Amino acid sequence: MTLADRPPAAALVFRTLLAHGPLTRAEVGRRTGLSPGAVTKVATPLLADGWITELGRPAVEKATGRPATLVAVRAERARLIGVKITGDELIGVLTDLTARPLATRRAELGSRDVGAVVLAVARLVAALRTQAGAGPESTEPEDAEPEDAERGGGVHGLGVTVSGDVDGRTGTVAYSPFLDWRRVPLARLVESATGVPTLIENDVRALTVAEQWFGAGVGLSSFALVTVGAGIGAGLSIGGRVVSGARGVAGEIGHLPVGGGDRVCTCGNTGCVEAVASTHAITDQARRATGDPGLTMRDAVRRAHDGDPAVRAVFARAGRAMGRALASVANLVGPERIIISGEGVASYDLYADQIRQTFAAHAFGAAADCDILVRPLPFEEWARGGAAVAAQQLFAPGA
Ligand SMILES: [Zn+2]
Repeated sequence: MTLADRPPAAALVFRTLLAHGPLTRAEVGRRTGLSPGAVTKVATPLLADGWITELGRPAVEKATGRPATLVAVRAERARLIGVKITGDELIGVLTDLTARPLATRRAELGSRDVGAVVLAVARLVAALRTQAGAGPESTEPEDAEPEDAERGGGVHGLGVTVSGDVDGRTGTVAYSPFLDWRRVPLARLVESATGVPTLIENDVRALTVAEQWFGAGVGLSSFALVTVGAGIGAGLSIGGRVVSGARGVAGEIGHLPVGGGDRVCTCGNTGCVEAVASTHAITDQARRATGDPGLTMRDAVRRAHDGDPAVRAVFARAGRAMGRALASVANLVGPERIIISGEGVASYDLYADQIRQTFAAHAFGAAADCDILVRPLPFEEWARGGAAVAAQQLFAPGA
């Protein structure tokens, strides 16, 4: 049986064990809504093929009080690669099935041309495989299906993440402003260049999957991950699912129109949060405020720390726009927590007060009690999100 031939229930059980395991079979049934018979029917071939394993130590089953065996995914059963593409760099990580990193690597992008980027991804994937010595696994049971991993040189799946309007279902980047790409069939191009089964995902959504699975979102019924940097985006996890939108777009808080009408956004509109609070927008406004056209973001941060009132006002405005955007998220979704991450958190102290004050002023009722957590995450963690998405989709129908 190939991965994609397995019944949909297999994908459900496997994903549940990935995100919440180890679990007893009864707990898997409760979490998936499958009957005990259906869980056993799905788990037996997964056990036989070495995708999941029974742990030696029994747990006491809550419902019956009887000892029950825990089942868990076998981390070493598969290797996955996640790659994040930024405007000027690739960040890659090779992981085991539980998205634990085994090797990481970065590569500069000389060009944003689609062909050049695809070639660079293929080189990065090859280098990661060499670095980790990722040959076909030697401990596979003899009847395991070898085709996917053999085709990918020991790697079962590749998750490539890009900012912008990314349709994971069709494998197409509809629009990525930083790469200046439109309608790029990226999954197909990368898969044929690497030989590894490939899916693509919006980079913030992939990071949200990682936070939900093994980060600051573990165990929360809902949370929002807001990333501040070259762009401003959000991933929304509601009821244990990361919202992907009916047409691939969701959580685009950078384009909420709360920034004021005097600045034009990368999307062409005015008033977007991103037009006043992205790193580009802050740099641009600081240049205008100081009359120094060569000013960098680092210079702006230094000047603000030195007390330059014009530059401090730029950060303050960014903070107020962010605070309104976060309040909008809290009012619409009511998350338990909002996690703020991205390169922009390096200068968070310069607008933290404005964010918190504006958030408190605009969050409605109990939505204001939402926990706000600032959490720097390196790009390797974003890439790991790509591997996590690839792991979750291993058994997806049509994978
Ligand atoms: Zn915009």
